[in-house]
Amino acid sequence: MERKVYADNAATTAMSRTAIEAMLPYLDGIYGNPSSLYSLGQRAKEALEGARADIAACLGAQANEIYFTSCGSESDNQAIRSAAHLGALKGKKHIISTAFEHHAVLHTLDRLKREEGFEVTLLDVHRGGVVRPEEVQAAIRPDTCLVTVMFANNEIGTVQPIAEIGAVCRAAGVTFHTDAVQAAGHIPVNVAEQNIDMLSISAHKFHGPKGVGALYCRRGVRLLPFIDGGAQERGRRAGTENVAGICAMAAALKEACANMNANAAKLTKLRDRIVAELTKIPHSKLNGDMARHLPGTINMCFEGIEGEGLLLYLDDMGICASSGSACTSGSLDPSHVLLAIGLPHEVAHGSLRISLSEYNTEEDADHIIKCVPEVVEKLRAMSPVWKEMERGEKQHII
Ligand code: PLP
Repeated sequence: MERKVYADNAATTAMSRTAIEAMLPYLDGIYGNPSSLYSLGQRAKEALEGARADIAACLGAQANEIYFTSCGSESDNQAIRSAAHLGALKGKKHIISTAFEHHAVLHTLDRLKREEGFEVTLLDVHRGGVVRPEEVQAAIRPDTCLVTVMFANNEIGTVQPIAEIGAVCRAAGVTFHTDAVQAAGHIPVNVAEQNIDMLSISAHKFHGPKGVGALYCRRGVRLLPFIDGGAQERGRRAGTENVAGICAMAAALKEACANMNANAAKLTKLRDRIVAELTKIPHSKLNGDMARHLPGTINMCFEGIEGEGLLLYLDDMGICASSGSACTSGSLDPSHVLLAIGLPHEVAHGSLRISLSEYNTEEDADHIIKCVPEVVEKLRAMSPVWKEMERGEKQHII
């Protein structure tokens, strides 16, 4: 049996012991509804409010600026739709975003465009995968109601100049939302210092459980209700709260923030070692500006191969990784993120994302460094395109 190396932490993470233990009391003993007045309910309510305060502290926010949701996608949807609909009331129907956002953002914007007549400007992210604040500034119009730019990209790991973009939006009086699903718990996030009006997070990206997230909305910025029903979340999001999940999310975020520097140092070392070795593979390319990067994410393309083949062979060798391509979701289109940074289709098809967490070890890195070149060589030996390139009948692109 090959060793198991989990290197797909941008997709989801293993729950930490701390997070599991934080959730258990609310699954077993303290199962009361936080809206109930008797003590079993009130103990659940206290836990919920404690979690809200802890999450707010980790993000530089106030507790009453945090709304619990069911996931990062819901937080993105609520933030965008709320800002859009409030904008429309004032005749402002222009939204600025980027070409490489997560689909939770891009598909929400598409629907607003198709069904409600909003106009959307998608900014270029350039070859490095980084948005330029001056281009945000230039794109703002009198009818712009929202700028939404992700904090860190989920495929290539580039970190955006969020404080600068926030400052541009604040000066122009435009609401600024950021999808910080890949950033929170991994790199410093501070809504006050970074001029953020709304921010989305998701617990399962920082060793918390799946199916629980939060939305920060700055006091003074209106937030429209997303689910109608009871008065939970101060009327902005009805539905009995996932108390156990929320407590685990708060414990996981607190732990991730407390260990952020040590984790980042460990991950950067592992990442740089893997990058140094894998970039020795001929006709390979490292994607995303490494000077502005998440500590644990690596995205590379290997010419002449398909990402899916690479993933399947790596799985056989005990490595869980992912491809930038959307083939796993049933589409044969290459990743919109890799196309947004200007990669040609045929190169974007041969991509690999390795995303590490602090649970990865030097031995995991050794295994990745050993297996990836072997698999690339094996796939190239079977690839008609690669053979044409080797015979000089087709030009190498990278
Ligand atoms: N935004 C980004 C950048 C993500 O990486 C993800 C998850 O992959 C999401 C949003 C969606 O989060 P969730 O899975 O909690 O809906």
